[in-house]
Amino acid sequence: MSKVIDAVSAFMDQLVAKNPGQPEFIQAVHEVAESVMPIVESTPAYRKAKILERIAEPERVIIFRVPWLDDRGDIQVNRGFRIEMNSAIGPYKGGLRFHPTVNLGLLKFLAFEQVFKNSLTTIMMGGGKGGSDFDPKGKSDNEVMRFCQSFMSELFRHIGPDTDVPAGDIGVGLREIGFLFGQYKRLANRFCGVLTGKGLESGGSFIRLEATGYGTTYFAQEMLATRGESIKGKVAVISGSGNVAQYTAEKVTQLGGKVVTLSDSSGTIVDKDGIDEEKLAWVMDLKNVRRGRISEYCDKFKRAEFRPNQRPWDVKCDIAFPSATQNEIGATDARTLVDNGCVCVAEGANMPTEPDGIDVFVAAKILYGPGKAANAGGVAVSGLEMAQNSQFHQWRRDEVDTRLHGIMRSIHDNCVKYGEENGFVNYVRGANIAGFVKVADAMLAQGVV
Ligand code: NDP
Repeated sequence: MSKVIDAVSAFMDQLVAKNPGQPEFIQAVHEVAESVMPIVESTPAYRKAKILERIAEPERVIIFRVPWLDDRGDIQVNRGFRIEMNSAIGPYKGGLRFHPTVNLGLLKFLAFEQVFKNSLTTIMMGGGKGGSDFDPKGKSDNEVMRFCQSFMSELFRHIGPDTDVPAGDIGVGLREIGFLFGQYKRLANRFCGVLTGKGLESGGSFIRLEATGYGTTYFAQEMLATRGESIKGKVAVISGSGNVAQYTAEKVTQLGGKVVTLSDSSGTIVDKDGIDEEKLAWVMDLKNVRRGRISEYCDKFKRAEFRPNQRPWDVKCDIAFPSATQNEIGATDARTLVDNGCVCVAEGANMPTEPDGIDVFVAAKILYGPGKAANAGGVAVSGLEMAQNSQFHQWRRDEVDTRLHGIMRSIHDNCVKYGEENGFVNYVRGANIAGFVKVADAMLAQGVV
């Protein structure tokens, strides 16, 4: 055991030295290294081929200037990124994030996570991620369009349906993907599956919009089933009020659960009566059409309460779905959730729980599904969208939903296969090892590239 600990520490020392100022990337790699080092240490071929060292180094990083004109005619300059992390098992695949906090280290963490997540989906996709420090909040549709066109004017030469296929993430939804796709098509003179998350009218897939939230809920359902439980009758807290949060709320409600919170970066709304289908439709219009703030919920639904600058983790619940952003659950939040009786945490967001928080969940032996497994439904349906685009065909809604459900079940089974110890499933270890082995074996087969 101490040999493994020493190996992790030696590996991390050189990673930290090589990647200064990238705390999220270091955090993500450390978690995977801890899980997979026993396998690396006991597999001489992995060690000799320096698989871990290579997997933590992006194959390619593209950084570019994105100049655009705002509505006053003033020039704005943002920075664009695409991290092409690993293509051992398929074309680079992963979302674009538009948010002021975007930087190289943040996107490297997301691209790194994406490699293992994509591997888990059973679809042949490599890992990548990209985005910009552009903030779509408060911008007009025309400003967002001009930004997207400028961003794509550089990105288009690096992507392609068999090379690198971006999708959405924070700040990049249907509207942004539409503008990005329009500009790609104009520049490349090709209608193809170069982006996923497109609108249904532009070659998108049914259920892609819903996929991450639905998939995370299906994953929670699978975890609960291992203890003879289900979502029916359970109280759920959800953070965020964007794409993932909205469709998690929809599926939890459809399965008989009661959702009592949503949030955004200004605070949390608590509705003890439950955010039912009708209230959720109002939220979707608020966030996706009127582009308002979640606090407005309490003006409309008077029995609900707004808690400024607070997260939902101290609201009593059975299940928690962190669905906003990274590092939103610390050790104290995790302890509060466990003490209040929470039995299941399914991560819709990427790396929303800090390492100390994960330790609390694992020590308490609750059902804890890490993002790279629990939220893989989004990229899985993106993979299905690529398959449909290559056939110039659109599958039926129920057909895609059934496939999504099957994929989430298979990801869950794989986590159990690699993560079960003495009757307890450590989903972190299970997801990391299952995701790693497939990519590592492909890298071995392809030589030193
Ligand atoms: P959206 O942009 O649709 O929504 C993001 C939500 O999270 C908003 O409510 C936003 O509030 C809130 N949020 C964002 N940043 C912060 C912050 N720093 N602090 C507090 N709240 C914040 O994004 P998505 O729903 O698509 O993504 C949410 C999470 O899910 C991300 O971690 C993403 O990586 C992950 N994910 C998304 C997938 C997808 O298919 N879209 C797939 C897999 C994972 P505000 O409006 O105030 O910023």
